[in-house]
Amino acid sequence: MTDRRTELAANLDRVEERIAAACRAAGRPREDVTLIVVTKTYPASDVRLLHELGVRQVAENRDQDAAPKAAECADLDLTWHFVGQLQTNKVRSVTGYAGLVQSVDRVKLVGALSTAAERAGRDLGCLIQVALDADAAGRGERGGVGPDGIGDLADAVAAAPGLRLDGLMTVAPLSGPYAGRQRAAFDRLMDLSTRLRQAHPAATMVSAGMSADLEDAVAAGATHVRIGTAVLGDRPPLR
Ligand SMILES: *Cc1c(COP(=O)(O)O)cnc(C)c1O
Repeated sequence: MTDRRTELAANLDRVEERIAAACRAAGRPREDVTLIVVTKTYPASDVRLLHELGVRQVAENRDQDAAPKAAECADLDLTWHFVGQLQTNKVRSVTGYAGLVQSVDRVKLVGALSTAAERAGRDLGCLIQVALDADAAGRGERGGVGPDGIGDLADAVAAAPGLRLDGLMTVAPLSGPYAGRQRAAFDRLMDLSTRLRQAHPAATMVSAGMSADLEDAVAAGATHVRIGTAVLGDRPPLR
């Protein structure tokens, strides 16, 4: 049997090398980019090992899996990021453990998050999820709001008690004009971030890049990369 800790340590080293190399190539300091490890489908025992190996930022995309996992790891100083499509009936649960929700994509969700964060006495970081496969003002297939919807949503988050507007997130689209063009997609996200920061200077987070395209994201200027399979291994096919 392979030692899971050794395997995770080796994978983390490889990802760290990739991020460092991408930063060097882009002339960016390594500290500019934060690694978030996406632990979805993997057990709490892996989260515990990752914490032992120095990981402090983890992400999940389904509340049903994340809530028990976060509860099992409640003794660890971890920041949980929620990165999946979020239904309003899950908001209360998610607000119980997540420090940030990266997938804010509609005003109704802002209201629900604000109510839950206030009730829990929490300060919840929010990223607007941008869909680059959507019509300008439409919604993406995998969640997210089109570029023209960012402004109103950002204003709503910034005005909502209990919520903090931290920046933008995207997933490289599988369809539309940016399909297969990760670098162009992430450059577009950076332009949108620059525009957002004119109205909301503190919203500096740019969350982009996954296992397959972290180099493109770092080159474009991402501040946070979300890495799953390159650290934890291939996931079983989506349920
Ligand atoms: C699963 C997931 C990731 C990580 O993807 P990998 O290809 O496994 O690195 C990043 N972001 C979101 C929103 C995800 O759902």
